[in-house]
Amino acid sequence: MSFSTLGLSEALVRAVAETGYTSPTPIQQQAIPAVLNGGDLLAGAQTGTGKTAGFTLPLLHRLSTDAVGSKLTSNKSPRAIRALILTPTRELAAQVEESVRVYGKYTNLNSAVIFGGVGINPQIKQLKHGIDILVATPGRLLDHMDQGTVDLTKIEILVLDEADRMLDMGFIRDIRKVLAKLPPKRQNLLFSATFSDEIKALADGLLDKPATIEVARRNSTVEVIAQKIHPVDRDKKHPMLAHLIKSNNWHQVLVFTRTKHGANKLVEQLEKDGIGAMAIHGNKSQSARTKALSEFKDNKLQVLVATDIAARGIDIDQLPHVVNYDLPNVPEDYVHRIGRTGRAGATGEAVSLVCVDEHQMLKDIEKLIKQTLPRDVIPGFEPDPSARAQPIQLRSGGPGHRNGGGGGRSGGAPRNAGGGNGGGNGGGNKPRSAGGNGGGGAPRTGGNGGGAPRSGNAGGGAPRSAAQHRSGGRGR
Ligand code: AMP
Repeated sequence: MSFSTLGLSEALVRAVAETGYTSPTPIQQQAIPAVLNGGDLLAGAQTGTGKTAGFTLPLLHRLSTDAVGSKLTSNKSPRAIRALILTPTRELAAQVEESVRVYGKYTNLNSAVIFGGVGINPQIKQLKHGIDILVATPGRLLDHMDQGTVDLTKIEILVLDEADRMLDMGFIRDIRKVLAKLPPKRQNLLFSATFSDEIKALADGLLDKPATIEVARRNSTVEVIAQKIHPVDRDKKHPMLAHLIKSNNWHQVLVFTRTKHGANKLVEQLEKDGIGAMAIHGNKSQSARTKALSEFKDNKLQVLVATDIAARGIDIDQLPHVVNYDLPNVPEDYVHRIGRTGRAGATGEAVSLVCVDEHQMLKDIEKLIKQTLPRDVIPGFEPDPSARAQPIQLRSGGPGHRNGGGGGRSGGAPRNAGGGNGGGNGGGNKPRSAGGNGGGGAPRTGGNGGGAPRSGNAGGGAPRSAAQHRSGGRGR
């Protein structure tokens, strides 16, 4: 099948051809005609499946070929926002908007991306100028709505991308506030990798007789990714990683740690070994994150160390090596993490350094992916058979319990307890204080999604939410 048979305009087919993609992926084959039809869509697809083009292309087609779009003679003339795409993270927002620009280059449509962590004024200026397609993280969008600097009254198409992740990050209230301001008659597209009851409830309220599409989950297509477990003692992880990188001559390695502190510490240790490394997480400035990411993409940086949410949306074709330095607290995150390699059919390798503390996590992951991962003990790093498990530290600076944070899908505390950002605190961490992110609705002070202040707390010094325990910060 080719893109031209899907009913897309010549301008779009040409732009796709220039990217080098010759045939649509399964999600694109199904989503493009469904969206062109004008109806609502519920799509189960993870990152790595080609889902972005799956909604971007038909959205561009509809807006550029209808009565309003076909009258546009340039991408500079005044216009109203007609499509809104919400994403959980800054990085994903930026990448989606880049796709909009790449695929829309031969149309007269234009786009903008808004997220927190950067100045609001240039965004205000851009919005004033007039744009067709807005990509945004929920928190910063609400800031603009509060300030009256964005007009959503002309929205015709709404996309919720990675909706499950947005809910995990506590954005449900923000999303609902945005929805309340949109015109009721519109096309709604919801993309999610997983379908919890919460997602189903959101979809039920949002979508009208949606077409439903589900493409193979990453955890059923991982055969292109070689996965391996290296058992190791907890204090030997760093020397083992250095050994793996050096002895295998790995040149582009994405490493996941559980905490921001862990990421920073590992970078320091690798630097001492002469291995170039940088970290991306919510305490890093947006410019530091962008710099690290682009150097890594350009192969100038050997190792990028990331926490889960910070790594969300990193889109690098054929990333050869992913290392789970720590296993994730939420088993689904394992699938997201290793989805960074072997993308779009390329082969890749994902290795996990697993110590005695993480055996239960490993079991949960293997249950989810329905396979037992091969164990490969590296000579010189044989784990001590008498070692006892210790509680896992979920965040920098305090002992926690695996599920104590109530984080994400496997967590104990309901994610929507008390609204948006509720949920318990990890064992041993400070209790929530009034005015924080807990009950009664997620305050957006400082900007939520993508707009989280770099201190990691969204509510003026309040301890973190459940979602933050999982990966150390929201809106990253
Ligand atoms: P996504 O799931 O949207 O994050 O896309 C995953 C990766 O697949 C991105 O690097 C895209 O550039 C790439 N991609 C998207 N569509 C295709 C296609 N039809 N053929 C090959 N690669 C694609």
